[in-house]
Amino acid sequence: MTQNQNQHYDVIVVGSGPGGATVARDLARQGKRVLILEWGNGKALTGTLQHMAQIAAIPGRGAFINRDMSLLVQGVTTGGSSAINFATAMPPPPALFARYGIELQPALAELKQELHFAPLPDHLIGPMATRIMQSASALGLGWQKLDKLIRADQCRTGCWRCLYGCPFGAKWTARDFIDDAVKAGTQLITSAKVSRVLHHDGRASGVLYQHQGITKEARANTVILAGGGIASPRLLAASGIASSSTKHFSDPVIAVMGSVDDMDGGAEVPMAAGLHLDSDGITLSDLTLPTAMYRAFATQVGRLDRWFAHSRTLSIMVKIRDELGGNIGPYWINKGLAPTDKLKFKQGITLARDILQHTQAKSIFQTWHFAAHPGGSVRIGDGVDNNLQTKIHQLYVCDASVIPEAWGLPPSLTIMCLAKRLAGHLS
Ligand SMILES: Cc1cc2nc3c(=O)[nH]c(=O)nc-3n(C[C@H](O)[C@H](O)[C@H](O)COP(=O)(O)OP(=O)(O)OC[C@H]3O[C@@H](n4cnc5c(N)ncnc54)[C@H](O)[C@@H]3O)c2cc1C
Repeated sequence: MTQNQNQHYDVIVVGSGPGGATVARDLARQGKRVLILEWGNGKALTGTLQHMAQIAAIPGRGAFINRDMSLLVQGVTTGGSSAINFATAMPPPPALFARYGIELQPALAELKQELHFAPLPDHLIGPMATRIMQSASALGLGWQKLDKLIRADQCRTGCWRCLYGCPFGAKWTARDFIDDAVKAGTQLITSAKVSRVLHHDGRASGVLYQHQGITKEARANTVILAGGGIASPRLLAASGIASSSTKHFSDPVIAVMGSVDDMDGGAEVPMAAGLHLDSDGITLSDLTLPTAMYRAFATQVGRLDRWFAHSRTLSIMVKIRDELGGNIGPYWINKGLAPTDKLKFKQGITLARDILQHTQAKSIFQTWHFAAHPGGSVRIGDGVDNNLQTKIHQLYVCDASVIPEAWGLPPSLTIMCLAKRLAGHLS
């Protein structure tokens, strides 16, 4: 049975990650009546393994296993994946968006004013990231500190809890923008999963969602899907607007690890510094993981002998710009590595091994590939136009799905720029 709540809004935003939170906040500040429906809950972040697992490790919800046994994760909670991400801020590539007639510099300038992202000060860059940076620099690689969405004055040394959801308020998450949106009058309903978009005569009119075991209906003149790279194509398919199988990217990662004798660490902010080889589609950075995650990866590749070496193991992330491919079904997703993806990994892993060998690291091994950036599944120029509108009037998509090409970069800042631009368009 469907309960018609007689709820009518100017805009319904589905999902509260970087895309949904940014567009909702800007629209609420314009005086629009906004409803955000978020599948996850808004429980305060505790920075524990248990809480992170609830957000991103429940199969079919936050975690997906591909046919080749690789793992893809996403955050299902208020703030989406930003609650558990590594807070690296990389600006959108201007040339890529210019190909679609999109200029994101004004939005980027605004966000820079609001968020003050910058590299971490030296005292917050951990000893492992420092050792890796020194080694890469000695090899002549252009290893640079990366901009972080972290408030340095609230961040602490010897801590890994940002990976599990920073409980100290040091890391920016989309929850910060959700709070602003709510202060500006937005209604946020958590544990509300949207199942379908309502549309009549080619025009969006609302959504159906499940909340507390009941199917409810909410109405609006404008609907913005911001459920992330997996949910948005699924919702379009479930609503009869697009096909159910869609190509996408996932920006897969392999961690290359090796142990040194003179280190006793393992708790620091990951991705403090790195190297971006744009034309090769490869990014490298330090990737110090908490003990439990490190052990899970070592176990997955049978390196039980490395279980007790966490505090002296340096870890380098090799991330590639994978080809668009695979498919997303109603209950599953699947994407393997293309031959060109394997070549990129080979090149990146060789570089990572060189850097580790230069630190005198021993017992070097690599993990299986995993991914955390599903996107490109409702691409600009294909599933949406360059104002992010679908073929249904006033139905927009504003999340990682709309990124128009193979990617390979931290996407949050780009998604937020697109969201600001959309809010400007809707004003
Ligand atoms: C471990 C990890 C590390 C990362 N590190 C970085 C980094 O350093 N820098 C960076 O830029 N990016 C990073 N990312 C990626 C980045 O966080 C995501 O790309 C980004 O959050 C995507 O934003 P989004 O708006 O597309 O959606 P998401 O963040 O995926 O949010 C979508 C929201 O919609 C909700 N939702 C889904 N379906 C429904 C539905 N049917 N009804 C209602 N709500 C729904 C979800 O619960 C979620 O809250 C990382 C990701 C992970 C997992």
